[in-house]
Amino acid sequence: MTTQPVLIAGSGPAGSLLALYLSQQEIPVILFEKQPDLPVDLRASTFHPPSLEMLDELGVADAMIAKGLKVDRYQYRDRRTKEVAEFDMGLLSDDTRFPFRLQLEQYEMTRIINQQLANYPTAQVLFSHEVLGFSQDDNGVTVLVNTPDNEKQFRGSFLLGCDGASSQVRKAAGIGYGGFTYNEKFLVVSTPFPFEQVFDNLSYVNYISDPDEWCVLLRTEKLWRVLWPTDPAEANPAQTYLNDQYIQQRLQHLHAKAGDYDIGHKTLYAVHQRVAERYVQGRMVLVGDAAHINNPLGGMGMNGGLHDAHNLAQKLTCILKEGASYPELFAQYERQRKDLAVEFVQQHTIANKQMMETKDPEQQQKRQQWFMETAADPSKARAFMLERAMFNCLRDSLQQA
Ligand SMILES: Cc1cc2nc3c(=O)[nH]c(=O)nc-3n(C[C@H](O)[C@H](O)[C@H](O)COP(=O)(O)OP(=O)(O)OC[C@H]3O[C@@H](n4cnc5c(N)ncnc54)[C@H](O)[C@@H]3O)c2cc1C
Repeated sequence: MTTQPVLIAGSGPAGSLLALYLSQQEIPVILFEKQPDLPVDLRASTFHPPSLEMLDELGVADAMIAKGLKVDRYQYRDRRTKEVAEFDMGLLSDDTRFPFRLQLEQYEMTRIINQQLANYPTAQVLFSHEVLGFSQDDNGVTVLVNTPDNEKQFRGSFLLGCDGASSQVRKAAGIGYGGFTYNEKFLVVSTPFPFEQVFDNLSYVNYISDPDEWCVLLRTEKLWRVLWPTDPAEANPAQTYLNDQYIQQRLQHLHAKAGDYDIGHKTLYAVHQRVAERYVQGRMVLVGDAAHINNPLGGMGMNGGLHDAHNLAQKLTCILKEGASYPELFAQYERQRKDLAVEFVQQHTIANKQMMETKDPEQQQKRQQWFMETAADPSKARAFMLERAMFNCLRDSLQQA
């Protein structure tokens, strides 16, 4: 077995999962994180059942579940007709040990994993270490890292680019990130206001349509979070949409109440649909957002990255412990995760957005009708939830040789 460490750029969900999996296999790792500590930003908050199964293999699912919110039903609501299509995730009880979505901030997961990593002497986590570039030869990779002291070189067997959508590793490899960026931005606002007390039978994950606007209303373990699209024609989006008065109006439109809402945080962010041209270059492999990015409707971004990381960790274990050929297994990773999984995620997330944003009353009615009928039929509802929870794309991708 090689004693060279696997070098991992980025301690987000993908890099953290890889670091823990490999450490548990007694494979040495160095995890470089450019920030001085684990980033605490409000991003993904939904863990689908297959991701929970993978995290359970690593022994961290229980701690996550104890901290998070188990959501065993989700709803598509039409504010015009007041119809609610509710999907009961209990119908997946024979399919998974985790028939629910776990609502938990992604940084809580990376914190739990990083606490575990401290138990492995072969795992080094280096904060304030920014990967700048790399070179490779037949025996390994050399990575140039900006450290608090100076620029240093580190040597390892492989480099895993888990450094997010603006990946420096991907750029250093000269790999393009094709696709598009939507004209409109998404506004996300959190509030402690108890929406569950004012909306009848509200679940903790809701997709809400309206004649004029749509939104996603979901509860994390800490606060309610509302996501709205914004007008792409707005000349000064940040000034307009991050304005408290504007946010109060949007929240009052969602539910009119006396007095202002307390606002926890507000973010306006660009929404992309992009996929790296290649995931592999010799001994370098891209994982998670470094490889693909999509709109957050359906919660497939982080989950897809966790599935990449789990797939690659299994292959690295075969390569480093059993002497399997890395070019072959990395090529298979690219086929499984790029050609199949990403195709599914890109198509579904684009379709989810189109479906939510239609303003045509006839289309809106058809869409709600479809949700109502599907939710009411247990066999159709199960099939729908298996797809939305990413079971199908994972199964299909693993069947790809
Ligand atoms: C507002 C918002 C809501 C979202 N909601 C959801 C959701 O509900 N469900 C879902 O599945 N997804 C969601 N996503 C997407 C999700 O957050 C990402 O898919 C996920 O964070 C990707 O994980 P990652 O580990 O690939 O990258 P990241 O989480 O971006 O982590 C990359 C890490 O690398 C570090 N880094 C960057 N460059 C370097 C470098 N050169 N050297 C060393 N370290 C570096 C960064 O500091 C960071 O810690 C959302 C995203 C946003 C913005």
